[in-house]
Amino acid sequence: MINQRCPILEGAGINGALMMQRNEIEKQPSCEDELNTGLLTVAEAQARILEGVTPVAATEALPVRDALGRVLAEDIVSPIDVPSHTNSAMDGYAVRAADLPASGVREFPVPGTSWAGRPWLTPIEPGQAVQIMTGGMMPADADTVVMQEHAERDGNTVRIGSGHRRGQNVRAAGEDIATGQQVFSPGKRLTAADTGVLASLGLGGVRVFRRPRVAFFSTGDELRSVGQPLGPGEIYDSNRYTLYGMLRKLDVEIIDMGVVRDKRELIEQAFHDAVAGADAIITTGGVSVGEADFVKETLEKLGNMSFWKIAMKPGRPVTFGRIRDAVFFGLPGNPVSVMVTYFQFVRPALLKMAGETGALGAFTLRARTTSALRKRPGRYEFQRGVLEQSAPGEFTVRSAGAQGSGILRSMSEANCFILLDPDRTSVEIGEEVEVQPFQNLI
Ligand code: AMP
Ligand code: MG
Repeated sequence: MINQRCPILEGAGINGALMMQRNEIEKQPSCEDELNTGLLTVAEAQARILEGVTPVAATEALPVRDALGRVLAEDIVSPIDVPSHTNSAMDGYAVRAADLPASGVREFPVPGTSWAGRPWLTPIEPGQAVQIMTGGMMPADADTVVMQEHAERDGNTVRIGSGHRRGQNVRAAGEDIATGQQVFSPGKRLTAADTGVLASLGLGGVRVFRRPRVAFFSTGDELRSVGQPLGPGEIYDSNRYTLYGMLRKLDVEIIDMGVVRDKRELIEQAFHDAVAGADAIITTGGVSVGEADFVKETLEKLGNMSFWKIAMKPGRPVTFGRIRDAVFFGLPGNPVSVMVTYFQFVRPALLKMAGETGALGAFTLRARTTSALRKRPGRYEFQRGVLEQSAPGEFTVRSAGAQGSGILRSMSEANCFILLDPDRTSVEIGEEVEVQPFQNLI
């Protein structure tokens, strides 16, 4: 360090701080370090971020179909029985179990048919069998259905043998859902099945959470938008494309604020504009050494910020905080770091902001690797992998290629992250690893 004293030069009466010649550099902590003590773990960062966000307060009422993919904001209690009437699960004959023969065969007169939607409204009389179709309402006093394959029809009579069970082939009113039963709770993201259930209850609309509004911008003097020519040292801004794409999967409102130059006033103005319209703000870039100071200064001035160094690769520096009513995620600039930190930290937080409850992270599974994976201990690594099913229920994974944090190409080849925990060192072919598929999620 420059301010260290050099005893030899000091003895000569020369100011060692200015003149010293050292034969070694004292290194600062960097992302190349093998062991990063004092860094935040991935799990700690995830937990702190989730604690720091709350669901949007506003809700809206929507027709059931428009609520598909949205997050339910109310309890759904069934106003009716489903099915609404006791009905047959089979095409056959509705009878009173008491009339069925214990042995031999009995002949039943058939007075008519109960069709689905066209019931036989006369109560069944002792000894009768009413023909019934699947979904047809059970005639009053009938309690059992004999499937037509087990009966012999002859004109207006049917012959039925022994061996039947009381109540067979009958679906009771309310056996799926009973009147007054709680069907769904707030926090459920509505699937096709859910909208089907809501329709089966006769509900025309439901109350859902308003979509979170998410604003994002890229920072960097070197960035040009697609359509502009590249000058020396300039690159195209790809982060706004990956972020846009990943946000599209989430059903949030997206506000793309473009590229913001690395100028204090411009960054500050961008934050002011973003806060005015967004529940969450995501930026990329501007958090590495050199730029850190002034973006940090701006952020500290605007809100409450935590600047984290997370023991992970890629994606070490992440800023999380709050600017007035909006939450802020400051992601690294490198294209793959953006996608990894988004998936691990921002996505679960946005799901919670959208009102969703339950497991917010992506599931993982175990796979045998068919590539050797290089890894140094100390940090959690998210390597890009290609997961394949080798046999039913068995998976293999291979590296998707070069793992540099700027190499987006291998990210587009990949369909999963290979999760290598901090203690792990290099992985040999044939070893088991944990993988996190992200296909269709980002
Ligand atoms: P920074 O965190 O701003 O120092 O950026 C780290 C690296 O990511 C640099 O090589 C940047 O040029 C690159 N980078 C930053 N923002 C973007 C972006 N929006 N699109 C593509 N590369 C970027
Ligand atoms: Mg930058």
